Amino acid sequence: MNVADSMRVASSLEKLGYHNTEKPAEADVIILNTCVVRQSAEDKAIGRLSSLKPLKTKNPDLVINLMGCLVGVKDNPKLKKRFPYVDVFSPPSDPSPLIKHLLEKEGKSHELDETLTRFAYMDGDLVIPDTDQGNLVSSFIPVVLGCSHACTYCIIPYRRGIEKSRDPQEILSEAHALVQQSVKEITLLGQIVDRYGLDQTDYPTLAGILRRLHTIDGLERIRFLTSHPNYMTDEILDVVADYPKVMPHIEVPIQAGNDQVLENMKRGYTNQQYRELVAKIREKIPGVSIATDIIVGFPGETESQFQDTYDLLADLKMDVAHLARYSPRTGTVSERRMEDGVPDEEKWRRFRLLEDLQEGIATEIHATYLSKSIPILFEEKSKKGRWRGRTETNKLVFVESNEDLRRQVLPVTIDWTGPWSMLGHLTN
Ligand code: SAM
Repeated sequence: MNVADSMRVASSLEKLGYHNTEKPAEADVIILNTCVVRQSAEDKAIGRLSSLKPLKTKNPDLVINLMGCLVGVKDNPKLKKRFPYVDVFSPPSDPSPLIKHLLEKEGKSHELDETLTRFAYMDGDLVIPDTDQGNLVSSFIPVVLGCSHACTYCIIPYRRGIEKSRDPQEILSEAHALVQQSVKEITLLGQIVDRYGLDQTDYPTLAGILRRLHTIDGLERIRFLTSHPNYMTDEILDVVADYPKVMPHIEVPIQAGNDQVLENMKRGYTNQQYRELVAKIREKIPGVSIATDIIVGFPGETESQFQDTYDLLADLKMDVAHLARYSPRTGTVSERRMEDGVPDEEKWRRFRLLEDLQEGIATEIHATYLSKSIPILFEEKSKKGRWRGRTETNKLVFVESNEDLRRQVLPVTIDWTGPWSMLGHLTN
């Protein structure tokens, strides 16, 4: 989501005549787009922000813009006091405070309303920033902003605001604009992307949006993330099964395998219901890959409750498991009402157990691709000089070739597989 937001800001700044520089010391404007989903992300953002102070001291004309979840959607006087050298504070997904500041600074405040209105109209006409022009094969479109679900551990609803689906027309014209700029793959984004349209009376569902995107000539692949198990409808799964451009890859977090922990997290489903959902996804979409997210060490999680999560992962054999150690986030229900009682070393131990388990599972799943010829969409050359691409199931594949493979979907025979990637050669 932050990558998508950053692209929008870069594109808006280019419309004002700014362009990208690699060196912070040469910049007139520095934007720090932040994530605070875990303490480690927040620490990193604060560290980077502190490192910008000497630049501002040296060049008081420099405009520093702090953006994203560290700022949040509400006014944040404490943050402003703590970082007086920051010129502009912007909530997630919103370049307008920075645009306003820059226009006022340039004495163009009379153009402000007109420019912001124009940008709002152009919203569905996203232009890829200069640095990505010609390179970008795959791009994101946020379709659900914010989140209203309120899982007890999660800070996102507090920082990204309430759930709001974007206008379907805006999404479609943005997709057309990206395809005209040679993008081949679009990933629709939302904290709970399968809730798309449910907060509005007259919007299509996610399945409806996928069907409409499917008609765009030149668009090869469509993905969406992240889904919540409770909103994963048969309609969505049928579209994935029946529409060839909609890729057979579902990201649907479980978070924990124990019912009491799931209830404490306020996730709204049980271990059994999740198992049934995974069985249904696999039945409807043969060859599908499924990714999940898991948090270990949630307040009060006992050894046997953790074992339920371990057993669930061992039984279901997911393609990918994004693992996290519970991190208390200020203001969330779990931080206010539950003791962060699982010691850090125990969280690490549980994390590593799942990591090892998942490594074995992924190795086993990937081995089934050996010697098969499968379509790969090539994105770019890696640092080692190999072409990097992805399977329909979102697995990384590297291929040696002197030809320019970028943007092409080509059959590749898989020669080697490991837990995180595969190697292959172009099928003759
Ligand atoms: N909205 C999606 C969902 O929860 O279904 C995923 C978005 S969130 C940015 C990505 C992941 O971060 C979550 O799925 C969760 O596993 C993890 N996460 C969120 N809050 C956390 C916390 N307080 N401590 C550790 N991990 C956390």
